[in-house]
Amino acid sequence: MSDIIRLLPDSVANQIAAGEVIQRPASAVKELLENAVDAGAGHIELIVKDAGKTLLQVIDNGCGMSATDARMSFERHATSKIKEAADLFRIHTLGFRGEALASIAAIAQVEVKTRRMEDELGTHLVIEGSVVKSQQPCACTAGTSFLIKNLFFNVPARRNFLKSDAAEMRHILEEFQRVALVNPQIAFSCHSNGKVLFQLPAANLKQRIINLMGSGFQEKLIPVNQDSNVVKISGYAGKPESAKKTKGEQYFFANNRFIRHPYLNHAVEDAFSDLLPEGYFPSYFIYLDVDPSKIDINIHPTKTEVNFLDHQVIYSMLRSAVRQAIGKFSFSSTLDFEA
Ligand code: ADP
Ligand code: MG
Repeated sequence: MSDIIRLLPDSVANQIAAGEVIQRPASAVKELLENAVDAGAGHIELIVKDAGKTLLQVIDNGCGMSATDARMSFERHATSKIKEAADLFRIHTLGFRGEALASIAAIAQVEVKTRRMEDELGTHLVIEGSVVKSQQPCACTAGTSFLIKNLFFNVPARRNFLKSDAAEMRHILEEFQRVALVNPQIAFSCHSNGKVLFQLPAANLKQRIINLMGSGFQEKLIPVNQDSNVVKISGYAGKPESAKKTKGEQYFFANNRFIRHPYLNHAVEDAFSDLLPEGYFPSYFIYLDVDPSKIDINIHPTKTEVNFLDHQVIYSMLRSAVRQAIGKFSFSSTLDFEA
């Protein structure tokens, strides 16, 4: 009998990896928006059709790519963001795994147009199911546009598993909001089926929260700040009256990325515990900055689960920072009220 084990072709390996990285149109949106942020864009546009099932486009005015890099960007484990294992402990970019574009191109029809500022011409590359269909020089604005058509065209099981357009669109907007909330200095827009859903100018954080989450937050945000050598905490908590019966508006960001962290949610809820009736949850937008060597973001491809080395210290500091912020607010609001 001859040996029977063989290496899978890249297109198959990419499609397998894509199953984990790109679960739904919103996952592609997250990856493309994060790439645009990493590219140093000052303006990012998201265009969606049919909840991303037929078309997704992200246009940025970031650093752009050379023709060779544009081709390389679709290879698996191809990245400009890290070079060696040690870099994993000092990550300052959102991406570093070099698998998002390879995954997307394995399961969709992708067109990229990109030009670096210093190049006269850009490049226009078409790739479908990991196969490059064409690449030509083109005249285009500086920056990058990724157009993703017919996501999951060759993965019927995944395509059929997608939820209604309304549900998939909610997931997309959630990703859009998370990226926009952590990058207020970047202007964003979002269009869906020809309608403008968001047009967000570059702003400070407070204004970005209000532009994105609604003017209801105008008078309701209390600044939360605490600086120590373990963690720098910043952001806003909603005044107790903006608490909701759902956990919808609870956002944590660590080192510029949205994270989920039930243990830290508890720290904030505990700080609010005397002020809220049973069953109500505070709103908050809290940003944690820690030394990149003290946070593990490499637990899952989507990087929303993280481990903090000093999680207990961060818990206590967060609770105290929020308590202090609410305390200050109650004090000054009483004065305002009496005046
Ligand atoms: P990662 O972001 O983990 O490096 P990706 O597959 O998302 O991996 O992207 C691969 C590479 O393609 C990036 O490292 C970057 O060099 C390049 N790239 C992707 N998107 C853009 C963009 N919008 N502008 C400039 N370069 C980009
Ligand atoms: Mg990326």
